[in-house]
Amino acid sequence: MAGIKLNTLRKIYAGNVEAVKGISIDIQDGEFIVLVGPSGCGKSTLLRMVAGLETITDGELFIGDRLVNNVEPADRDIAMVFQNYALYPHMSVYNNLAYGLKNRNIPKDEIEKRVRKAAEILEIGDFLDRKPRQLSGGQRQRVAMGRAIVREPAAFLFDEPLSNLDAKLRVQMRMEIKKLQKELGTTSLYVTHDQLEAMTLADRLVVLSGGEVEQIGSPIDVYEKP
Ligand code: ADP
Ligand code: ADP
Repeated sequence: MAGIKLNTLRKIYAGNVEAVKGISIDIQDGEFIVLVGPSGCGKSTLLRMVAGLETITDGELFIGDRLVNNVEPADRDIAMVFQNYALYPHMSVYNNLAYGLKNRNIPKDEIEKRVRKAAEILEIGDFLDRKPRQLSGGQRQRVAMGRAIVREPAAFLFDEPLSNLDAKLRVQMRMEIKKLQKELGTTSLYVTHDQLEAMTLADRLVVLSGGEVEQIGSPIDVYEKP
């Protein structure tokens, strides 16, 4: 595990669009940070810079003690959960979970141990032999999270992971993520539009506006104080 330090991060896209205007956030080891704010305020740009999917125009990004500005996404020791959980349709749940580890030269018995542990936490242990199409939407989203968990990363990045689910499932999966957060205690950066998700999950909320931090604090500080 590790904290994440954003030191005056900036992103200027082609056409001189300044999407992120020098944002600094010190994410503690094990802390769950939720990023909220109106569409276009820079949430996904910020998350993608941390993931390494977008170049950093200016500023410094540390994961643990390591400056990672120029480190490839795969070498950043982070795992990202997307809203479009792209599972491999022809592979069993087991192999969907194991696939990323098989490519990393992790021994077979270690892979099996990690897959079983993640499956137990997510309560998908009975479905390991099924194909994704034989699963419900919620079970699929759990497999997608399982793929992040088995990597045992220093941090999780969530890009609106629940926004494609129906309202009932969203509530259920929100509690699931909350449980995960308690059990694993992994540093997390979570982007959402949903105020309930933000309030339930966040240790600290970061409200962005126009590429800048407008407010930062506990959910109570941000939502309940005048
Ligand atoms: P959010 O995730 O909060 O909706 P984004 O990070 O997607 O915000 O976008 C922030 C700003 O950057 C917006 O003004 C958006 O139009 C702009 N932007 C996002 N991606 C690109 C891109 N690839 N090229 C140019 N501008 C972009
Ligand atoms: P493929 O779709 O690649 O042919 P297999 O079902 O043959 O997948 O499994 C490949 C390996 O993954 C097996 O050798 C086994 O070790 C492991 N595996 C697959 N399913 C399970 C499972 N349900 N429990 C434990 N290991 C499994």
